[in-house]
Amino acid sequence: MAKGEIVINETICKGCGYCAKFCSRGGIVMSRDKFTPKGYLLPIFANPEKCNACGICGWMCPRFAIEVYKYTEAPS
Ligand code: SF4
Ligand code: SF4
Repeated sequence: MAKGEIVINETICKGCGYCAKFCSRGGIVMSRDKFTPKGYLLPIFANPEKCNACGICGWMCPRFAIEVYKYTEAPS
């Protein structure tokens, strides 16, 4: 089960690909046919089951376009 989730702000993404490049788990891939509103290639959170919420994609994004969320167990 995925431990994390990311939200990419498509309106400020510049399609640089750093997020996909630095995600060591293959959670993000760059699309080949989907674009941001400004026409840049869009990163896709293609493999959410691989995400461990490490936060690296968010740190590497020069546009601060990624928010990373970590799932935690609900208290019982
Ligand atoms: S939080 Fe970590 S594992 Fe999840 S998509 Fe970003 S870099 Fe990949
Ligand atoms: S690192 Fe940021 S600006 Fe670059 S492709 Fe990923 S979300 Fe877009």
